[in-house]
Amino acid sequence: MRGAVIHAPGDIRFETLDDPRILHPTDAIIRTAVTCVCGSDLWPYRGAEPTDAPHPMGHEYVGFVEEVGSQVTAVKPGQFVIGSFATSDNTCANCRNGFPSNCLNREFMSTCQADYVRIPNAQGTLVATDGVPGEEFWPGLLAVSDVMGTGWWAADAAEVKPGSTAVVVGDGAVGLCAVIAAKQMGAERIIAMSRHEPRQALAREFGATDIVTERGEQGAAQIKELTAGIGADSVLECVGTPEAMRQALRSARPGGNVGFVGVPHDVAIDGQELFFSHVGLRGGPAPVRRYLPDLIERVLTGAIDPGKVFDLTLPLDQVAEGYKAMDERRAIKTLLKP
Ligand SMILES: [Zn+2]
Repeated sequence: MRGAVIHAPGDIRFETLDDPRILHPTDAIIRTAVTCVCGSDLWPYRGAEPTDAPHPMGHEYVGFVEEVGSQVTAVKPGQFVIGSFATSDNTCANCRNGFPSNCLNREFMSTCQADYVRIPNAQGTLVATDGVPGEEFWPGLLAVSDVMGTGWWAADAAEVKPGSTAVVVGDGAVGLCAVIAAKQMGAERIIAMSRHEPRQALAREFGATDIVTERGEQGAAQIKELTAGIGADSVLECVGTPEAMRQALRSARPGGNVGFVGVPHDVAIDGQELFFSHVGLRGGPAPVRRYLPDLIERVLTGAIDPGKVFDLTLPLDQVAEGYKAMDERRAIKTLLKP
């Protein structure tokens, strides 16, 4: 089969790779329907994470089951399936507590920009749809496997409630999906922080009521001004930089909550400031598996259309261009078709 391999920052190659095979009785092999490039793939691409040796890339997937291990009974060959970027058995204590992305048997997916993918913990990880959904739904279902699930977690962790005010820091695919989530959870006012016009337009389409273009201290000051000097009930931090985290914490009201889902890079939190702010803080890799049945339903009924975050579609063999376009911010998110 063929797949994307990173060799060094900026060096993504499309190569012939060994076909994956069942290694454990809990594995499944899927044939990729569509996959994509994640904002977090840009960390190694930009050299913000080291690449010590060449390795495959990609952790978002929807596909057709090809083969299952002897202990996998939940899905069958031929079914269309969606799973999380973090695999989970769905039976351990952490899974039962609602945190499958901290499963005791967790394995992170890392080989999905390829024709075929081995899915560990397939029994607990994969969710099959009733029949094969129309191709028009594939981008939305693919988004559910990571960015939509992560946006949902940001809103969940920030405790967005009906009638509340939510701020979304970050206008990447996750931030835009976080706007969808805040809207679905009933936020009355959704303030998206973005300085890019096409992204502002999509944020508004997804439910944003206000756009703030300022960043850092000025951004937080602008949020205070829009919230009667108090701050927002919920802030959804979808970037992962020190500046974004500081801005998020300073945009929440006393008693408000920050949900942080951007993978932190060099983020340090001032304990004194957090203590005196009365702001609640929760984040981590999204428990996507917990949300899958609900989010799949919302996509298939048309309640949400997170597939709109894909503004560039390329054949899988042009994956390198897919990274480049996102790195140069010519694309929000690249969909790849095998
Ligand atoms: Zn588990």
